[in-house]
Amino acid sequence: MKATVMGTGYVGLTTGAMLAQFGHKITCIDIDERKIDQLNMGQVPFYEPGLDALVKKHLNKNLKFSTGLQSIVNSKVVICAVGTPPNQDGSPDMSYVLAVAQQLIPYLKRYKVIVIKSTVPVGTKKIIQDYLLSQGVHRSKFDIVSNPEFLREGTAIHDSFYPDRIVIGSDSQRAVSLTYSLYQQCECPVLITSNEGAEMIKYAANSFLATKISFINELADICEKYSVDIEEVARGIGYDKRIGLHFLKAGVGFGGSCLPKDLSGLIYLADKSGIDPKVLRSVSHINAERPYQVVNKLKNVLGSLENKKIAVWGLAFKPETDDMRFAPSIPIIKQLVEEKAKVYAFDPVAANNAKPLIPECVKISNDMYEIARDSDAVVIVTEWDLFKNADLSLLKKVMKYPVIIDGRNIFSPADMKLQGFNYYGTGR
Ligand code: NAD
Repeated sequence: MKATVMGTGYVGLTTGAMLAQFGHKITCIDIDERKIDQLNMGQVPFYEPGLDALVKKHLNKNLKFSTGLQSIVNSKVVICAVGTPPNQDGSPDMSYVLAVAQQLIPYLKRYKVIVIKSTVPVGTKKIIQDYLLSQGVHRSKFDIVSNPEFLREGTAIHDSFYPDRIVIGSDSQRAVSLTYSLYQQCECPVLITSNEGAEMIKYAANSFLATKISFINELADICEKYSVDIEEVARGIGYDKRIGLHFLKAGVGFGGSCLPKDLSGLIYLADKSGIDPKVLRSVSHINAERPYQVVNKLKNVLGSLENKKIAVWGLAFKPETDDMRFAPSIPIIKQLVEEKAKVYAFDPVAANNAKPLIPECVKISNDMYEIARDSDAVVIVTEWDLFKNADLSLLKKVMKYPVIIDGRNIFSPADMKLQGFNYYGTGR
């Protein structure tokens, strides 16, 4: 099938490459000329393991890139995968999605399915439909499908080819069938829902995941007071199938482009409808406090942080991505700078994206041991494998004081003690 994907970010590009692999003829469009130039040279403009190879494999065959809209003419399906970043009030900024709807108007002379893959609030399908009708587009020329995406950065390719489920929300059987034929090769449950149901499923999924994280983080604080190891507790409850092992890692809190945004989006929707979302608000509140707890822990160990050299290991919001959107490293570093610490930071892939988001005085280096030289403490913020496999004897040798604040529980407290570190994990 011929399809156009609008937006070549983490979601649009991965989706485009996956559909090309499935044999569809895909054109990915972006308004960012630099991105499209890079992609046309076979370079992926962000870090996502495996995506480079997939794009190169299909480039100029099943997969094309353009800033022009020409491919829409012959596309049966147009997939909208543009961003929906949060506004100040927590609502999503819908201007990019609405701009796509506007761009489609001249092309809706022949029937097309508009697939909304961007995460959008309940009611978006109706807003876009009403908008297109108000602009003189005939109702018979389009259907709108709400088809939320559940991939995770870092494992985006695997998640796209092997999704847990596919949700196709539409009131048109024809549109559902066309959308389904895009994904036919995926072996997973397919849920056909209303548009509104599909829109809500995405917010509900991310808010539930955020709830699990805030729950385990609150539990970690309680465990710490009673000298109980949260990792044991997480495993002990996680093997219960009703609970599940995933998203029970205590740490510095959740970040990234989705969980914080979708949680605040759902809170906004609830508020607007007159519901006070008490659980969701607490989830957000607990998460907002996590980064400051790390700094407080450091203060409890070192006293004043003024002129103390602190090495921060990890900037990305999670491993295997260079995405810095809402990364917990940002508030942690800002607070350390506020406390007048001398902050050094290292991340294997996110350093460039981090630079504009953290204070200029922070020295970013490409050597994780060098930043720890003569340091008063190392703070682990992202659980990269590189840190899990660190040369701990070298680390201990270069540090002034062997203090480790492990915000991701990547080491065993007993091993670290044996190695001579003053080791402080999370909830243990
Ligand atoms: P992104 O910011 O990485 O990419 C969005 C892209 O859209 C940018 O390249 C931008 O230039 C482009 N764009 C903006 N307006 C355009 C237009 N009119 N025409 C063509 N391109 C345009 O965003 P993302 O992380 O890929 O997320 C996209 C959507 O998917 C969001 O709604 C997000 O919430 C949702 N989502 C993201 C993830 C994730 O892990 N990143 C997972 C699931 C769902």
